[in-house]
Amino acid sequence: MQYACSMSQDERSAGDLRNTGMSLRHDRTWDYELERIVEAVEERDAEKVGMQFPEGLKRRAPHVADDLRELLPDGVRVMISGKPCYGACDLDTYMMRRTDVFVHFGHSPMKDSEKIIYVPLFSNVEVTPIMEDALEELETGDVGLVTTAQHMNKFEQMREWLEERGFTVHTRRGDERLTHEGQVLGCNYASADIDADQVLYVGGGKFHPVGLAMEHPEKNVVIADPVNNVVTVADHEQFMKQRYASVHKAMDAEKWGVIFCTKIGQGRWEQANEIVENNDNAYLITMDEVTPDRLRNFDMDAFVNTGCPRITTDDGPRFHKPMLTPGEYECAVGNKPLDEMEFDTFHGTW
Ligand code: SF4
Repeated sequence: MQYACSMSQDERSAGDLRNTGMSLRHDRTWDYELERIVEAVEERDAEKVGMQFPEGLKRRAPHVADDLRELLPDGVRVMISGKPCYGACDLDTYMMRRTDVFVHFGHSPMKDSEKIIYVPLFSNVEVTPIMEDALEELETGDVGLVTTAQHMNKFEQMREWLEERGFTVHTRRGDERLTHEGQVLGCNYASADIDADQVLYVGGGKFHPVGLAMEHPEKNVVIADPVNNVVTVADHEQFMKQRYASVHKAMDAEKWGVIFCTKIGQGRWEQANEIVENNDNAYLITMDEVTPDRLRNFDMDAFVNTGCPRITTDDGPRFHKPMLTPGEYECAVGNKPLDEMEFDTFHGTW
């Protein structure tokens, strides 16, 4: 299972709460911003429109295509990308080149381009009721505030709500990989580099806050999840244990597969090549989807993934051989002490 960055597995499965003991508080509806797409088609005199959806919303794609076709002039063709999509790092470049308007749903822009229309699909869920519940886990005083692209439309409301309750709210826009102040991605928590020992994450699922807790183990990360209607504190211990176990297993490895991911926003070419240049037993493997199945036939002792760090940390145990981040690789081969091991983050775009 791979994870979407701004629409996590937990979020994707929200609604199916049969075994969770939780109750869903709201109905989900999304605004696909079809008028904006129609305007772009008219402005550009477009003949072909491409649409790309995150995994959790692919089932809605034919309905959106139907609605759009009704609004568009006859003769404009609407196409749907079947390529897996886990973030704005993951644009269908093949389709992009072959369409006049390319619409990417579900993620905020990682890089602006005239060709692409990003439709973020803001959530309509109310956030303050679950923030009220989260107060029990927060100490009054300084607090960092972060969220995902889906809840960005409520960010100012969240900030004001906390300030009205006496908190000093710290926020920042991380770096150019992030569109908004306070936004986090599964691979980038620069927005949480703030002067506060506690951070409130308001958003669906644990995917983002657990990454945040791994990146900032010194901070208390409180999760107010308005999607699943639950408050928890992010626990990164289990993940860290898994990471140490993988590094230990890889310490005896001789043959290394070094993965360069060809997805447009996941390439770290220099880093991948540097590893290969400095290790005669390392082989550069280029690939798009990094999955256990695709690596199984390679006769390697261990892998280093320079693509999405969350494939490594979250899916790592599913691979047949240890799968490490570049930083973990440095520890496994003895270039760095184990206690300097850090959570892998991704900066920059492409
Ligand atoms: S590289 Fe980052 S933005 Fe892309 S899917 Fe992974 S965590 Fe999300």
